[in-house]
Amino acid sequence: MSLFQCQHCGCCENTALTNHGWPYKGWEKHFDWTGIENRKGMQLCSACSPTNYSDGKSCSKSGRWHEQFERVYLPQGEFFTNKTGNLEHRETGSEDFRQFRIEP
Ligand SMILES: [Zn+2]
Repeated sequence: MSLFQCQHCGCCENTALTNHGWPYKGWEKHFDWTGIENRKGMQLCSACSPTNYSDGKSCSKSGRWHEQFERVYLPQGEFFTNKTGNLEHRETGSEDFRQFRIEP
């Protein structure tokens, strides 16, 4: 389990709480991307993930925020997952991502 920055909305997400926390190749085909085709292949938070599988069944984890922790939006592209699995600010090296929060 580690933290990552959603490549669509920029919020901080945990890989354990979304189907799209890893940039899997081929994984995308199991989901229905209608209307959000441009997000295919991105690392996505639960809220930005497709709501349905390709067979029409709904994904329990997707399409809404999971409410397991507060959704904190961050400046897009300024963070990466470091070796310890935390979100690190590229410029300052800080893991205290909450100090960089922005309004969505
Ligand atoms: Zn997102």
